Amino acid sequence: MITVEHLTKRYGDFTAVNDLSFEIEEGHVYGFLGPNGAGKSTTMNIMTGCLSATEGHVRIGGHDIFEEPDQAKRLIGYLPEQPPLYLNETPMEYLRFVGEAKGIRGQKLSEQIADVIEQTRLKEVQNRLIGKLSKGYKQRVGIAQALLGSPKVIILDEPTVGLDPIQIIEIRDLVRQLGQEHTVILSSHILSEVQAICEKVLIIARGKLMAFDKPENLERLLMASNTVSFVAEAEADEIENILSGLDPVSHWQMEPFEKGSIRVEVQMEDGDVQDVCRSIFLAFAEQKRPLLELTSKKANLEDVFIELTEGESVQMQEARAQYDILEESGVQTDDSGV
Ligand code: ADP
Ligand code: MG
Repeated sequence: MITVEHLTKRYGDFTAVNDLSFEIEEGHVYGFLGPNGAGKSTTMNIMTGCLSATEGHVRIGGHDIFEEPDQAKRLIGYLPEQPPLYLNETPMEYLRFVGEAKGIRGQKLSEQIADVIEQTRLKEVQNRLIGKLSKGYKQRVGIAQALLGSPKVIILDEPTVGLDPIQIIEIRDLVRQLGQEHTVILSSHILSEVQAICEKVLIIARGKLMAFDKPENLERLLMASNTVSFVAEAEADEIENILSGLDPVSHWQMEPFEKGSIRVEVQMEDGDVQDVCRSIFLAFAEQKRPLLELTSKKANLEDVFIELTEGESVQMQEARAQYDILEESGVQTDDSGV
């Protein structure tokens, strides 16, 4: 349904999206999971034709988003991070306006508006001003406009951000429901959220795709990212022999180190890191082959996970610091009312 190939977006020297490639199949709910500043919104903006790419291709249903934007865009409904809602219109008026912009007219438009209002349960507020609605209802209006034109793919950028717990549950239920008729892609920085809603998860960090898997496999993947690294004063075949006798150790790489010693990196699929360190130490000692170094380290995915669970990325901290400086110097930083 969607093919993304070697997608890259640079802002000057800064690479926001770095060589992303993946495929989205029809009829599933996908999650983009990553900390703030990971490149999720940038990727979604490019996939929906709202932003140009520096390099790479995006095809929606076989149509290139840059070369055949009209055909490609017709297949997508998009809820951006900051949906352009008109606060002094009612949902009815706004949906009519968006529907017409999408080229739907007359009876067909009225029917579709009634349909999306029903689907997103907006009926009781359809004639109130959008500006007076709760954040949860505003988000539903944003989702309703994405559904107009019955696009095959619905892309939702952080649809639950800023909502209270009840509204979050309602929006998650709505997304699951949409997933029965559409291909849905949503982004989130909350691991438990994508685990709860999505059938497939793409972990994005620093503009790169770190993992693409089912949520049930992700936890295993995250735990499997442990590496034990050591330097042994031994020949390569001796090291092979010793390691192949150790049960939880199945994959390793060797490279020459100083003075004829060899550095070995062991990737662990399961088992406790300390247990593995202990058995490596004892096995080499038994063969009278000295270890000059022995450390365990956590690989990239684990870093991503820590970043996710601890909340803030470096970029976010920088942005916050910048914001504080602006505020202290009295510069207007309020971006509400857009
Ligand atoms: P996410 O949605 O995952 O939080 P974004 O895609 O919004 O991340 O941003 C990715 C990175 O690109 C961030 O570091 C952000 O500061 C940077 N970025 C986004 N838009 C611009 C822009 N117009 N100019 C410069 N940098 C940008
Ligand atoms: Mg974003």
